[in-house]
Amino acid sequence: KRVHTEQLMETYRAHCLILPFPIQGHINPLLQFATRLQHQGTKITLVTTKFLFKTLQEASGSISVEAISDGYDEGANGVAAGIYLAMFRKCGSETLTELILKLHDLGCPVDCIVYDAFLPWCLDVAKSLGLRGAVFFTQSCAVNNIYYHAHKGCLKLPLEETEVDIPGLPPLLASDLPSFISDYASYPAIYQLVVHDQMENIEEADWIFFNTFYKLEEEVNDWMAKILPVKTIGPAIPSMYLEKSLEDDKHYGLNLFKSMTKACMSWLNERSVSSVVYVAFGSLAELNAEQMEELAWGLRKSNYYFLWVVRESESNKLPKDFLEESSDKGLIISWCPQLEVLAHESMGCFITHCGWNSTLEALSLGVPIIAMPQWTDQSTNAKFVMDIWKTGIKALPDENGIVRRNVISQCISLVMDKKKGQEISQNAKKWKDLARQAFDEGGSSDANIKDFVSKLV
Ligand code: UDP
Repeated sequence: KRVHTEQLMETYRAHCLILPFPIQGHINPLLQFATRLQHQGTKITLVTTKFLFKTLQEASGSISVEAISDGYDEGANGVAAGIYLAMFRKCGSETLTELILKLHDLGCPVDCIVYDAFLPWCLDVAKSLGLRGAVFFTQSCAVNNIYYHAHKGCLKLPLEETEVDIPGLPPLLASDLPSFISDYASYPAIYQLVVHDQMENIEEADWIFFNTFYKLEEEVNDWMAKILPVKTIGPAIPSMYLEKSLEDDKHYGLNLFKSMTKACMSWLNERSVSSVVYVAFGSLAELNAEQMEELAWGLRKSNYYFLWVVRESESNKLPKDFLEESSDKGLIISWCPQLEVLAHESMGCFITHCGWNSTLEALSLGVPIIAMPQWTDQSTNAKFVMDIWKTGIKALPDENGIVRRNVISQCISLVMDKKKGQEISQNAKKWKDLARQAFDEGGSSDANIKDFVSKLV
């Protein structure tokens, strides 16, 4: 076995462990980054929790997977964030150290740990074993910049001003900031994680990677690069969606939910070009029943075809008679292959919560956005979509925080209209091209990845 492993190692330039935080929106980009590194000749071992081990093994193709413990090997449903994070830090540090020593004994030594910024203790493990560490931030450069400033004490909380000026960023309203800042008292554990834990040892990391591309966030990236050696490596989506299929780059992707791929793709195949409104709020956001109802009737009112992802846990909030009344125009599914959907020629626009992955995926595939941010970094992403990249509009809520059906149908009419939505469509096309350029041979993200790989050995 040992000889076999050593022979294997000879064909690789270096060995990286990749550790995503175990939720959908963090595993996806780190898995894609892993694929990209593997394509460059790096040996990759993806490391996940025991609870997700099997699922990830099925999703990650030829990339090997190992498990460590977050302390909740049977699942952590219902565990408070602060307790979970502390337990993961403790059990994760111990079991990650054991894993690295085991791999060393097997003749498969590790050179570098690429770890999710939500797992900052991985750097301590790396350093204690004499390894290098690369931190991977799954959120936008702008959002990381906001958290970094808050960490450095440059944002006085609670916010006293309605508008804040942060270097490298346009003026932002308090409501444009991530909810973990604007409403920090409601999320003490996550505030501690994003503002302090993930920034506490950032200066000691050997590399700092952001899942974005240079042109998309040029100004803020330049500003941050003056302080920290940040490198953009995104968009971390499979190469086939960037019209640049790398030979051995299979589309590995994780679905923590059961995907209704067949039903959804054959429904889309029946639709004409740019005719469908796609609606999805990612893996975590929970709309309240009133908002679901307004959205439902807003979609119906717009009279466009719509494909709506309503996760199983949310489906009891759909208005009773809605399914029947809308079956001629809409398809509701519990999960779909989102990239495949966004890349489909029938896509007209995307009503999204503006999670960073969804935002970056829409930008990279040239799909106009109607933003309905819910919490975390989504308000900041929505602000950039509307005012900086200009690839969409924000559906504005009323004084009770609900986006009403009329607003939704008006937004759809505007974005879907060839004339009124023309500027947005042109911008969407522009960012799609720039995403491709970043990813292409010699592009900014490609160069950063190659530079990293060259320094690993
Ligand atoms: N996604 C998917 N199918 C769906 C809905 C979402 O594959 O029906 C994927 C989507 O492509 C994205 C991820 O789930 O990669 C959601 O990440 P995001 O950052 O947008 O939101 P989060 O789930 O973290 O709130």
